[in-house]
Amino acid sequence: MPFDIGIGIILSIAFAHFFGIDLSWVLVMFGVLVSLGPDIIDGLPRLKTMFSENAHKHRDGAHYPLYYIIAGSIIVSLVLPWGLAGVFLFVLISVIHFLHDCIGVGWGIRMFYPFSKKYFKFFSPDLDLHNKRVSTYISTEKIISIWTKADVQKINHIHGRKDWITWYYFKQSAGYVEWTVFLIGIWLLFVNI
Ligand SMILES: [Zn+2]
Repeated sequence: MPFDIGIGIILSIAFAHFFGIDLSWVLVMFGVLVSLGPDIIDGLPRLKTMFSENAHKHRDGAHYPLYYIIAGSIIVSLVLPWGLAGVFLFVLISVIHFLHDCIGVGWGIRMFYPFSKKYFKFFSPDLDLHNKRVSTYISTEKIISIWTKADVQKINHIHGRKDWITWYYFKQSAGYVEWTVFLIGIWLLFVNI
């Protein structure tokens, strides 16, 4: 999540410079909201689940990239004043969100839904082989993992953690990368706005 906020800020600033658009709070808020969009839409109705070891269950619905990107692009082109440039920013930030959800915390997303219902995750420990909780969510053990819903339920039963927020964001080096991106975003915001 800190990564998403940072990326939303950084790319909205880059977008303003690149397309010669005024850098406004509206634009920055748009970038951040787009970056958090799938988590807000899927997570808010399932807040209790988000703070449990079953947090992965929030990644359905808005976490189907094909639906989300097509529907969102149409809405952005109709509602917002930046035309195709705004659609470009929306697609770029959304793609980064979905790729980010396939690396690190959680069990990936259904990248190609509705054509495939499998979950995809990159650079994960080989969770099928570990029958004890792993000490990290990022590893070069397996470049790409592809799981069915039943696989994800089984994996979550062994590796899911109720304390995933404090464990991942404050005790894992990947979490520190998230905070670094967040702080770069905040710094760029104060330098540029
Ligand atoms: Zn997400």
